[in-house]
Amino acid sequence: MTVIAQALPGDNISITMDNCTAPFWEAAREHRLEVPKCGACGTFRMPPRPYCPQCQSQEVEWTEISGKGTVYSFALCNRSPFTGEEFHYVPVVMDLDDAPGIRLVSNLVEVEPSAVSIGMRAEVAWNPIRDGWVLPIFRPTAE
Ligand SMILES: [Zn+2]
Repeated sequence: MTVIAQALPGDNISITMDNCTAPFWEAAREHRLEVPKCGACGTFRMPPRPYCPQCQSQEVEWTEISGKGTVYSFALCNRSPFTGEEFHYVPVVMDLDDAPGIRLVSNLVEVEPSAVSIGMRAEVAWNPIRDGWVLPIFRPTAE
């Protein structure tokens, strides 16, 4: 039987946000991937934080990116974190093409776990979660 990695059930996922992270979640709800970039020196910040790690500026420009990237690291999981039952999912750390220097922790879906590899190309997809929010996830591309 072929196993395909799935998104975690959105009904089990809720988020918290603050002034620093709200723009990320508001963009995701509209199926856009936005990341914060320093308004002074251009360094990307992820996770979002009030001060630039490079120059300590508080200036920030939210920048929409393509959502294309490369698997930097991953894990293969076969039990639901919510019920403990068999459930196949693949947490990934993604390098993002348009935001060098930062990485996004996410999940990879629509793939056989045994086929996942470091350097695999993927693009953003969207997983609806609680309260009308949307979680960015990734699926492989044929590039
Ligand atoms: Zn800076």
